[in-house]
Amino acid sequence: MAELTLRQVKKSYGNVHVLHGIDLDIKSGEFIVFVGPSGCGKSTLLRTIAGLEDITSGELKIDGEVVNDVPPSRRGIAMVFQSYALYPHMTVYDNMAFGMRIARESKAEIDRRVRQAAEILQLTKYLDRLPRAMSGGQRQRVAIGRAIVRNPKVFLFDEPLSNLDAALRVATRIEIAKLKETMPATTMIYVTHDQVEAMTLADRIVVLKDGNVEQVGTPMELYKKPGNLFVAQFIGSPAMNVLPATVEKAGTATLLSHSGGRRTTVPIATPAGAQGGAVTFGVRPEDLAIATGADHLFEGRVDYVEQLGEVQLVYVDTGRGGEPLVAKLPGNAEVRRGAMLRLAAEPRDLHIFDGEGRSFLGREAAAEAA
Ligand code: ADP
Repeated sequence: MAELTLRQVKKSYGNVHVLHGIDLDIKSGEFIVFVGPSGCGKSTLLRTIAGLEDITSGELKIDGEVVNDVPPSRRGIAMVFQSYALYPHMTVYDNMAFGMRIARESKAEIDRRVRQAAEILQLTKYLDRLPRAMSGGQRQRVAIGRAIVRNPKVFLFDEPLSNLDAALRVATRIEIAKLKETMPATTMIYVTHDQVEAMTLADRIVVLKDGNVEQVGTPMELYKKPGNLFVAQFIGSPAMNVLPATVEKAGTATLLSHSGGRRTTVPIATPAGAQGGAVTFGVRPEDLAIATGADHLFEGRVDYVEQLGEVQLVYVDTGRGGEPLVAKLPGNAEVRRGAMLRLAAEPRDLHIFDGEGRSFLGREAAAEAA
């Protein structure tokens, strides 16, 4: 069991500022995922927690103890990397036992823990194999096993699935989700650029951008109530449609005009000061449906259709210029390229962001919490 506290953690390499003051509270036993685009500082943040990088300023606590200057080996942490880095000439058993042998653990204790880890990871029948006789997914499980036997308080994963092909990635992702269930007391922090991994694995997701935390929340909080445009478009695939709009009437619900003068009432409160102002209006592709009644949100020509079987991604040109809208419609819906299409959405699924890209919904929630 271990909780982590980060206060104003900054990291610079010379005059390259990578982390700009990260504040974060991670509860004991939580599965936290750091997600963000390449170069946003995820790995650096993980490596500062592991102690593989010094912190330039700020404070990092594990279980209440400041560990800024504690070496990695004394932090109670085990890390799994993208490259499994197994010893090629050692069997699976020996790869997993290696660290404990160095630490001069008893033979019986080593055997007990290796077999227990192998059991959890379904590696028991491979214990005598060499890594080269195993698939990428199995090798990554051995690397995870090597970390488990150390009985860490905190488990760190740095993009562990990126070297695997698509099918193995899904299978290993499920293994990691089950691992979390078999080790409920262990705090886990997982870095990925893949929002699907973040959504499926995390208790809470930390979205990072340019060395700053954009939002922290459960997968569904981030999906349903993204605090800003960046999070809105990062979580969910295809990304949320966003388009310019004007606030015709602010209030407890907001009347917007968008797409060549269409008007829509959105059940999100906006302050009086927002009236007449330019905002961004957002709706997820999966929240759009073919309009059945007279009341539709968008009308446009079908520009392109990507049929995926179960669903089809329909690109609609509303004639307003810019990117086409994307609608995720059932695979069997009749949609013809070149035809006009009317799309509707439930008002509760609509989003509004201010001129700085901050959600009005997020602000209302923040005001309530304060
Ligand atoms: P991510 O894991 O999100 O892809 P990283 O944490 O690896 O991002 O890197 C964040 C930024 O820090 C990048 O712009 C990278 O170039 C920079 N960076 C990482 N390590 C160093 C280093 N040793 N020296 C200088 N810049 C670095």
